[in-house]
Amino acid sequence: MTWDTTGTLGMGEVVSNESLANLLREERRFAPPTDLAANANVTAEAYELAKADRLGFWAEQARRLSWETEPTETLDWSNPPFAKWFADGKLNVAYNCVDRHVENGLGDRVAIHFEGEPGDTRAITYAELQREVSQAANALTELGVQAGDRVAIYLPMIPEAVISMLACARIGAPHSLVFGGFSADALATRINDADARVIITADGGYRRGKPSALKPAVDEALTRPGTENVRSVLVVRRTGQDTAWAEGRDVWWHEMVGRQSDQHTPEAFEAEHPLFILYTSGTTGKPKGILHTTGGYLTQISYTHSAVFDLKPESDVFWCTADVGWVTGHSYIVYGPLSNGGTEVLYEGTPDSPHQGRWWEIVQKYGVTILYTAPTAIRACMKWGDDIPAKFDLSSLRILGSVGEPINPEAWMWYRKHIGGDRAPIVDTWWQTETGGMMISPLPGVTETKPGSAQVPLPGIAATVVDDDANEVPNGSGGYLVLTEPWPSMLRTIWGDDQRYLDTYWARFENKYFAGDGAKRDEDGDIWLLGRVDDVMLVSGHNISTTEVESALVSHPKVAEAAVVGATDPQTTQAICAFVILRGGATAEDEGLVDELRAHVAKALGPIAKPKRVLPVAELPKTRSGKIMRRLLRDVAENRALGDVTTLTDSSVMDLIQSQLPGAASED
Ligand code: ATP
Ligand code: MG
Repeated sequence: MTWDTTGTLGMGEVVSNESLANLLREERRFAPPTDLAANANVTAEAYELAKADRLGFWAEQARRLSWETEPTETLDWSNPPFAKWFADGKLNVAYNCVDRHVENGLGDRVAIHFEGEPGDTRAITYAELQREVSQAANALTELGVQAGDRVAIYLPMIPEAVISMLACARIGAPHSLVFGGFSADALATRINDADARVIITADGGYRRGKPSALKPAVDEALTRPGTENVRSVLVVRRTGQDTAWAEGRDVWWHEMVGRQSDQHTPEAFEAEHPLFILYTSGTTGKPKGILHTTGGYLTQISYTHSAVFDLKPESDVFWCTADVGWVTGHSYIVYGPLSNGGTEVLYEGTPDSPHQGRWWEIVQKYGVTILYTAPTAIRACMKWGDDIPAKFDLSSLRILGSVGEPINPEAWMWYRKHIGGDRAPIVDTWWQTETGGMMISPLPGVTETKPGSAQVPLPGIAATVVDDDANEVPNGSGGYLVLTEPWPSMLRTIWGDDQRYLDTYWARFENKYFAGDGAKRDEDGDIWLLGRVDDVMLVSGHNISTTEVESALVSHPKVAEAAVVGATDPQTTQAICAFVILRGGATAEDEGLVDELRAHVAKALGPIAKPKRVLPVAELPKTRSGKIMRRLLRDVAENRALGDVTTLTDSSVMDLIQSQLPGAASED
């Protein structure tokens, strides 16, 4: 790799430019299925068109939407990096996601198949969705919400979450979703930062077979300073559990929304009208409120959802397993599928409730054709065993998607074989909260896919890999992932903090958006994501990516999941320390297992990448969106007090790891 890490890793070392040439050498290729390629929504021509005229390409995609005033402008980049897209156009996002489909005669099409964790179900047609969104919009208006006012949404994965978001969009009130697993503190900080006026919540939701309360966290958050402007709390009754009630502030959804008219005329807003604020967790300090607007956002989300999943709205059943509280849920549960008039599944619960085959049972029940999930879930299913998905009929699946972390080639192959029947193409989609929509991904009818690589920028997207001096790296080298041209669904700023927007994304390289991720171009020019720049390890003068060592470990038949960190080391600057979850009946006590795993990595990647320590553990620390928190593992490996654990799903995981530490270590 070509990183001079001075200032990046804060180590001030002189780093050799020598690359680890044999890292992630991947020979396997999978051509698109012939019938899929023959009928694909998007062909290779799209790359040519977009290359010849990028803005013309996006202007053409904007015609997917129904505008009240058609835009004549495409991009205004006169004040970079503050972009305006389609600025003289006007549209209503909810009209685009709901009403226009009803007007086109699709009122009876199911928009959402809701599957509650306890097994209750509801099929909501576009006509019903239109009535419910209209009622909710009328209710918000009665509660005094006006265009521009922020509404916080703190709900489980129930239809009211989607309805609330669309109702906000309909009246031009930006929503701010806070994931239902976050604490009262996290909720209070986000309410305060966005200065929300109304909160939509529920008494509780179902999680692992039990009702789990939500409303008490809202009550607690509203005792914190900075939340005084919240006038009303609209409460959905989901679990029926007892709930404290603040008279005058709290109102039941079924009463307030239930008594509204189901007619509502949507008003068109300017294309740059704010649609939502969504907070990224932020590694330090205050969470960043990422701001997205309407016209450009909906254009890119609608296009990518159609192109990358090859959506045929009349026959496909789409399922994105993310929570609506993450950007994946915003873009590919709400705005993508619904703007395209698709039919989708919305599932409330966890994949292993009440049994580890629940997801596959749902795929079979609804005949899901397109599944979009995260590597962490795929690795969990690998660990539970191949026999579980094998019990269900998954033959309806025709396209599989992945997002959120690099997918290890081994997990990719498992997903293809055991879920996709060795038939369905996998699209590994790279993007971020900040990018709003997908940026790098294969196209299922065009790209010959390669396990573990996100491959190529989508048509109309300019992404590349650069070295420290902002020069594009040659094929076979690594560096930083950057975006070199503005894109329609890009963040517009950090809410209330333009300076932080400039500093975080635009200061590292001139005129380029710095994504914060390491990446590499292989010999074919395909892009591989290598993990966050902050996690890169420096071993004896070599930059080594966490992703590559983790993928090498996961390629061993006894490893289900791995997390790798660099721990300070007197001889080598950092030493590689690997935490692994075992599978197939292997245990930490197995004679010689640790040495076998170390040797396996050395063989796959070269001796420089051989972990100094390998620690089998029962669980890994993950964020609530399922990503491994390497920062905490670094604290453990360096024998430090743990940093902030508030965004962890389960903080007891860290106690468990620490208690396992000494005996399992191996050193030489
Ligand atoms: P925060 O920014 O608050 O620390 P986050 O970066 O995890 O949180 P997201 O915006 O949900 O929040 O995630 C985007 C990041 O996830 C990307 O920057 C990248 O590191 C990783 N990522 C997403 N998709 C992929 C993918 N297909 N391959 C590799 N990495 C991915
Ligand atoms: Mg991020």
